[in-house]
Amino acid sequence: MPVFEGIGTVECRSYKKYNDDMRIDIFIILLIAAVLLYRWYQKLPKEKGGEPSSTEMVMDPNCETYIPETEAIRATIGGRDHFFCSEKCAEEYRKWHSTV
Ligand SMILES: [Zn+2]
Repeated sequence: MPVFEGIGTVECRSYKKYNDDMRIDIFIILLIAAVLLYRWYQKLPKEKGGEPSSTEMVMDPNCETYIPETEAIRATIGGRDHFFCSEKCAEEYRKWHSTV
């Protein structure tokens, strides 16, 4: 029966197309997931396996002295992270920043 065969091939073709589209969708989802995972990984604080030689010097904005990041006191003031040599400096800078 030619009619039956015709329907059969159309169904078969559309099913194959559907399958291909699904494969592309999954690929895109996996790609987005990979990008998001990579970004999330980049944001992670790298405390594990940190080498002492990779210590960065940061400036205390209150007394303008440089201190190693590992010894600095971290404080978020005005939506930004700042590093201080002591709690006293952090407090002073916070007070000064909040009054301006
Ligand atoms: Zn200081």
